[in-house]
Amino acid sequence: MKQLLIATTNRHKLKEIAAIFNECGVSDWELISLDAFPGYQPPDEDGDTFAANARIKAVSAAQMSGLTTLADDSGLSVASLGGAPGVRSARYADTPGQTHDDAANRRKLLAELRQTPPGQRQAAFVCAAVLATPDGAVTCLEGRCEGEIAAAERGSGGFGYDCLFYLPQLDKTMAELSEEEKNSLSHRGAAMRQIAALLREPANSLR
Ligand code: IMP
Repeated sequence: MKQLLIATTNRHKLKEIAAIFNECGVSDWELISLDAFPGYQPPDEDGDTFAANARIKAVSAAQMSGLTTLADDSGLSVASLGGAPGVRSARYADTPGQTHDDAANRRKLLAELRQTPPGQRQAAFVCAAVLATPDGAVTCLEGRCEGEIAAAERGSGGFGYDCLFYLPQLDKTMAELSEEEKNSLSHRGAAMRQIAALLREPANSLR
């Protein structure tokens, strides 16, 4: 069995990726997380794009571990805010010297969009997923999920911006979906299904 390092210590993310790979028939890779390398100091994620940050994480962890490594970076991009919060999604409401949480990030987003009417609140969740081998081969794939920013929070599932991310075709926010429903249409699901297809290829160059 080959080992695939998932460059995260987030158990929720690991579980989500394992479920998607399982659904997609990826069977000959054992998934391990950064918990297996307790001394490892992850690099700063100082890229300007999701892809750049996923690449920084994957390349560093592959070099450190000697294993083929998968890293992802994701966030929310709001059209009328020029793509913000973007790579700053997790730190959107932070100020110098003070870090905030998901609830503060959502309050800031609603405040920024207070004057933006329905119909001009388009947004996308974006996920960049990068596979890196220890010898330096890098593959980047991207998944997107299109929606709108609701006027108020709705639903209690998920995390982050889910309860503000409205899917008009379902008349639900992301936080009103089951885990399976979310995986079937989310940005991370879309990116990870492409990664799964690569991992399943019998003649791929991954070790
Ligand atoms: P990460 O790169 O996956 O850790 O995501 C960075 C930030 O983007 C998170 O802290 C959330 O604020 C936001 N985000 C990413 N994916 C999702 C999602 O599926 N739902 C809600 N928020 C998300």
